Amino acid sequence: MKLILFGPPGAGKGTQAQRIEAERGLKQLSTGDMLRAAVAAGTELGQQAKAIMDAGKLVSDDIMIGLIAERIKEQDCAKGFILDGFPRTVAQAEGLDRMLEKNGMKIDHAIEFVVDEKALFDRIETRAAESAQAGEAARADDNAETLRKRLAVYREQTAPVLPYYETRGLLKKVDGMQQIEEVARDVAAILD
Ligand code: AMP
Repeated sequence: MKLILFGPPGAGKGTQAQRIEAERGLKQLSTGDMLRAAVAAGTELGQQAKAIMDAGKLVSDDIMIGLIAERIKEQDCAKGFILDGFPRTVAQAEGLDRMLEKNGMKIDHAIEFVVDEKALFDRIETRAAESAQAGEAARADDNAETLRKRLAVYREQTAPVLPYYETRGLLKKVDGMQQIEEVARDVAAILD
């Protein structure tokens, strides 16, 4: 099964993707995590991506499509995968479809986590506080100002991707303001 999770930053995509991975063996592919790993490793991609990510902007479509195209060929994606944070633009959605078609694959479901933007600021603050408590460095983009920019980018560039999947009959909506367990139950109902 191949899934896409949509929702603004802090909507719970990562949390739900981890659960689906643990329960169903589909591989979580978080493009944000892949980019952060590249930044930490100091690769050429990481060096290019760092300033863009810190500013809450989007890394170029070509880079992102190439990154996912390579990743889904790995053995751990054989049972399927969950795209978390990709596609983020209509061009990425089109590139993804072309790439999947070439490989005889298709997306089974696109799930949108619908959330109240105001609550996202509280969640981001909690995530930053939890990192601080655990003695870890907070994500450089976990602050209110960057969140504001990332939400604007989501509204302008990623929200227009939703109709792409809606017209193909693939888009399902889940109330992301519920408790984690309740969101997971609604997601499971879609996947079963
Ligand atoms: P995330 O962890 O998904 O919120 O991603 C963190 C940052 O990585 C984003 O704010 C972007 O700068 C970058 N990024 C992640 N996924 C993508 C993507 N599909 N396209 C462009 N930029 C991305």
